[in-house]
Amino acid sequence: MRTLTHYIDGAAWEGSGRRRGDIHNPATGEKTGEVLLADAADVGRAVAAARSALPGWSGTPPAKRAQVMFRFRDLLNRHMDELAELLSSEHGKTLADARGEISRGVEVVEFACGIPHLLKGEFSEQVADGVDTWAVRQPVGIVAGITPFNFPAMVPLWMYPIAIACGNCFVLKPSERDPSVVIRIAGLLTEAGLPAGVFNVINGDKEAVDALLDHPDVGAISFVGSTATGHSIYRRGSANGKRVQALCGAKNHLVVMPDADMAQVVDALIGSAYGSAGERCMAISVAVPVGEETADRLIEALAPRVRALKIAPYTDPGSDMGPVITAASRQRILDYIEEGLAKGAELVVDGRDLRVEGHENGYFVGGCLFDRVTTDMAIYRDEIFGPVLSVVRTQDYDEALAMIDAHEYGNGTAIFTRDGDAARDFCRRVQIGMVGVNVPIPVPVAYHSFGGWKRSLFGDHHIHGMEGVRFNTRLKTVTARWPSGIREGAQFNFHAGSETGNH
Ligand code: NAD
Repeated sequence: MRTLTHYIDGAAWEGSGRRRGDIHNPATGEKTGEVLLADAADVGRAVAAARSALPGWSGTPPAKRAQVMFRFRDLLNRHMDELAELLSSEHGKTLADARGEISRGVEVVEFACGIPHLLKGEFSEQVADGVDTWAVRQPVGIVAGITPFNFPAMVPLWMYPIAIACGNCFVLKPSERDPSVVIRIAGLLTEAGLPAGVFNVINGDKEAVDALLDHPDVGAISFVGSTATGHSIYRRGSANGKRVQALCGAKNHLVVMPDADMAQVVDALIGSAYGSAGERCMAISVAVPVGEETADRLIEALAPRVRALKIAPYTDPGSDMGPVITAASRQRILDYIEEGLAKGAELVVDGRDLRVEGHENGYFVGGCLFDRVTTDMAIYRDEIFGPVLSVVRTQDYDEALAMIDAHEYGNGTAIFTRDGDAARDFCRRVQIGMVGVNVPIPVPVAYHSFGGWKRSLFGDHHIHGMEGVRFNTRLKTVTARWPSGIREGAQFNFHAGSETGNH
């Protein structure tokens, strides 16, 4: 049985922490390995490695940093199948889905390849007589990333390619449930020519995270994960004077207008509610048909498709979705289903008794579909993070919009309609960070930025795209006066910029 180590200073490293976590194959329930869980001393060692590398790396010309990113991109593509296999064996998602997530991560690396252009500053000539002003973006210093289990390759790739390309050094604390793919990718970064210490991986749990949050040399924290954890990380990191972005949980609604193409709606819901067993922060977990007749047509078309889902381990190429991540997660989902039934929701498709032959100990849950869910129910309010779709019937569009806006989360949403007016109104008024029009999972491409509103994001910056560049850099503005612009004598008063530039 293998033991997964940390990765510090360009090599595997065992550290001094004594605790270990178990890694399982969710499709079989078998323990397949152990991962070292860092203590504060291990974290200190990783940060020290980053600190040693920082002067050299932040002083490396951006075009040279980009060259590492170009080579890294090629290596990720070349090793795609190996990485997908490693990822799926610990996460459980289908191989096609694993390849898809790595590809979306590669797109962020491609964006980071353009860093010389992205870091170009601003220059104003002659802001006053003989005075020029320019603004540059400089690296924050040491950035730490804390990432969830559900996208073990892509979510870290949202963070460190841009952070590193901006000239920072990075310490990543991946999920302890499926950390192997990150360690493999760290080796590829070294192979791409990244100097030792610029990218470090520390495996662990809360103990490691707390040490990162309290370490005085860490300047910024990118977190992606659940809302309770993200909120506390945001508070502790901010109180320690760090820049923090914490992207958190979600409950994403898809509005079905009466004029929507029902075949398209059903295809969209099947993929977005049940893909990756519903373990996506952009999964649609609530369908909101407008009007009773729309709702009846939706349930009639959707239910047979949910029953027909092929649920199998990632090794089965025909699988639509695999197991959930842990036995505890499976039990939590089953508890929610009980709770929904107890509160009076109608379980149209019941996936609780699913048995996958030869994988009886795997953490499988069949696709579940609830109708007549109401907004006071926990299955509506909470993020279940499993293959459970709730249908909440509404009488009109305004009721649907008000319901979405009243929800505590604001990550993603979508409207399906042929009516341009309704779609435009929805895009303009809905209180959600990412909106789809006839697109069920509107995850922005790498050169735009990803992030929710309300309790789906704490902090000012969204992630990747230009927001990623802003988060990972500090703005420095220089005002310079050349001798020909210097007037005689000391000046004690503020003046308009055009007079002296002497503010
Ligand atoms: P999680 O919050 O349990 O774990 C996320 C990270 O935080 C892990 O690295 C974990 O080790 C660490 N952690 C866990 N508990 C901690 C604690 N008490 N103190 C400090 N660190 C702690 O999340 P998860 O179960 O791995 O991932 C699922 C969640 O992530 C869902 O809520 C999902 O919506 C969310 N998510 C959000 C986005 C987004 O962009 N908004 C993207 C992916 C996942």
